[in-house]
Amino acid sequence: MAACIFCRIIKGEIPSLKIFESEKTLAFLDIGPLSKGHSLVIPKYHGAKLHDVPDDQLHEVLSIAKRIAIAQGLQDYNILQNNGKIAHQQVDHVHFHVIPKPNETEGLG
Ligand code: 5GP
Ligand code: ZN
Repeated sequence: MAACIFCRIIKGEIPSLKIFESEKTLAFLDIGPLSKGHSLVIPKYHGAKLHDVPDDQLHEVLSIAKRIAIAQGLQDYNILQNNGKIAHQQVDHVHFHVIPKPNETEGLG
């Protein structure tokens, strides 16, 4: 989809700080992090909501989110995926948030 921000990031038309890329999956840092190291893992296949994306395009996504959490040494974190405006989805291209939850003394760093 030409107008989709995340499709444009996949194409390299909008810059991003990439963490991981494969044929079907991309991970990059969130532009408005809720905590230091907040990232997004997305299927390259464009689908607005989870049920719009075929299973074979999603297989890697959770394991990449897990690998990011391991690589960041996280013990406390949220994996979050919103579907629809009422559920707080802002970008209509499926994405999984990996949100580190630092302890209070670490803060945003
Ligand atoms: P949602 O509320 O849809 O689950 O989350 C969308 C996320 O995408 C937000 O955390 C927001 O900061 C992030 N985001 C929106 N536009 C951009 C962008 O152009 N680049 C990056 N890296 N993240 C974005
Ligand atoms: Zn898209």
